[in-house]
Amino acid sequence: MGVRPIRAGIVVTGTEVLTGRVTDRNGPWLAERLRELGVDVGRTVVVGDRREDLATALRFQLADHDLVITSGGLGPTADDLTAEVVAQVQGRAMALDRDLADRIEEIVAGYAARRSWTTPPEILRQGSEKQAMVPDGAVVLTPIGTAPGLVVPAADGGAAVVVLPGPPSELQPMWAEAIASAPVRAVLDRASELRQAEIRIWGPPEAELAAALRVHEDAHGPLDEAGLEVTTCVRDGELEIVSRFAPEAAGAYGDLHASLSATFGEQIYADDGRSLDDVVAEVLLERGETVATAESCTAGLVAARLADRPGSSAYLLGGFVTYANEAKTAEVGVSTGLLEAHGAVSREVAEAMARGARERLGTTYGISTTGVAGPGGGTADKPVGLVHIAVAVTDGSVAHRELFVAGDRAAVRRRTVVAALHLLRATMAR
Ligand code: ATP
Ligand code: MG
Repeated sequence: MGVRPIRAGIVVTGTEVLTGRVTDRNGPWLAERLRELGVDVGRTVVVGDRREDLATALRFQLADHDLVITSGGLGPTADDLTAEVVAQVQGRAMALDRDLADRIEEIVAGYAARRSWTTPPEILRQGSEKQAMVPDGAVVLTPIGTAPGLVVPAADGGAAVVVLPGPPSELQPMWAEAIASAPVRAVLDRASELRQAEIRIWGPPEAELAAALRVHEDAHGPLDEAGLEVTTCVRDGELEIVSRFAPEAAGAYGDLHASLSATFGEQIYADDGRSLDDVVAEVLLERGETVATAESCTAGLVAARLADRPGSSAYLLGGFVTYANEAKTAEVGVSTGLLEAHGAVSREVAEAMARGARERLGTTYGISTTGVAGPGGGTADKPVGLVHIAVAVTDGSVAHRELFVAGDRAAVRRRTVVAALHLLRATMAR
C-alpha cells in the first residue's frame, strides 16, 4: 500500500492497573479513537508508578511512533510523576504556570467547600502548584477534574507526547481538545482514513473459519497484500473477524465478505458492527415481543444479560432462578414425574422450564437453561459441561439444543448464556 501508516503508542501508568486491581479502560478506548482517526496503534505499554520504568516506556514508544499518549499520574501526590518524566524525556524544562495554578486552586477550593474538607489552604496550594508545573513549549489542556492535560512536543523534533489524566471520566472529555492542539493536528493531517468492519459468526468451529480464509487467499492472494489486516477472535463460541483497511482496499474487503457469506451463509448473524445483544434487542423491540427466563445452571445470568441495555423493560418481563428441583416445580410447574424420569439436566426438563416461564408471565418467548456447570456433580452419562437449553414460543413449539461445553464452571455458565441468546435469535428468525 506504499505509504507507511501513522502510528501511535500508548503508555498506561498506574501500579493499580499493572497489578490488575483496576482494569485498563484507557488503552482500549484510546486505541479505538485513534483508529477512527486513521492512526494505527503499535503498542500499549502498562507501567507502574516508578520514574525509571515510565521513562523507559516513553523512550520505547517514542522510538518508532509518530505520537505517544499517556494516561494517569497527573494528580497532586508524589506518586503522580507523569508530567515531570515526560518533560525530562522530551528535553523540556518545567516552570510554574501561575494562572493555571490559580485556576486549579479555585477548582480544588470548590471541591473542598462542597465536601466540607478541613485541609489547610497551604496544603491545597502545594498540590495545585505541583499540578501547574508545565514543560516549556507544551500546550495545556483544560482540566476536567483538577488535573490539566498536556501536549508536549519534543525539543529535538521527535514525536509529541499527549499527557492525559487516569480517571476515564476525565480522560475521555479531554480527548477532543487534545486532538485539536497544533502538535497533534500536524500528525493527524498526515493520516488517512482507516476503516474497520466486523463479521460475526455463530455455529462453526474456528478451524472452519481458518480453512475458509485459506481458500479465499488461494483465490484472491494474501490478505495483507490486498491491504487488509484481518484478526479473528473466538469468544464463548462466537467467531469474530475484524478487518481494518484503507478506503482503497474496500473492494478487497468486499471480496472477503463475499467468500465468507458463501461459506457460512445464515451462520453470519451480523456484519454491520452489531453484537448479539443488539440483534436480539432490535428484533424484540421491532415486533413488540417479550421474553421470560427459567434458569438453573446460569441462575439469572441470561436475564441479567437481557437487562444490560437501557429500555430492556420493553421486552424482558421477568425470570425465575430455579436451581433446585423443588423450585423448578414450584416456580415454573415442572412436574416431579418428569424430573424423576429424566433428571434435571435433560431435554424434557429444559423444554418444560421454557414453557413454564412463558406461560407464567404470558410472554412471547420462554428461555431456559439447565446443565452441569461443575467442577463436581458430573456422571458418566451427564458429564460436566452438558447443558440443555430451550426456547418456547406462543404456538406451543419449543426449540432445543444440547451443548457440551469445555472449560471451568465460569466458562460453562458464560457459554450457556451466549448459546441461549443465539437460540432465541435463531428461533425469532424462523
Ligand atoms: P488523580 O488526580 O485522580 O490522582 P491521575 O491522573 O493521577 O488522577 P491516576 O492516579 O493514575 O490518575 O488514577 C486515578 C484513578 O483513575 C485510579 O485509581 C483508577 O481508579 C482510575 N484509572 C486510572 N487509570 C485507569 C485506567 N487505565 N483504566 C481505568 N481506570 C483508571
Ligand atoms: Mg493519581
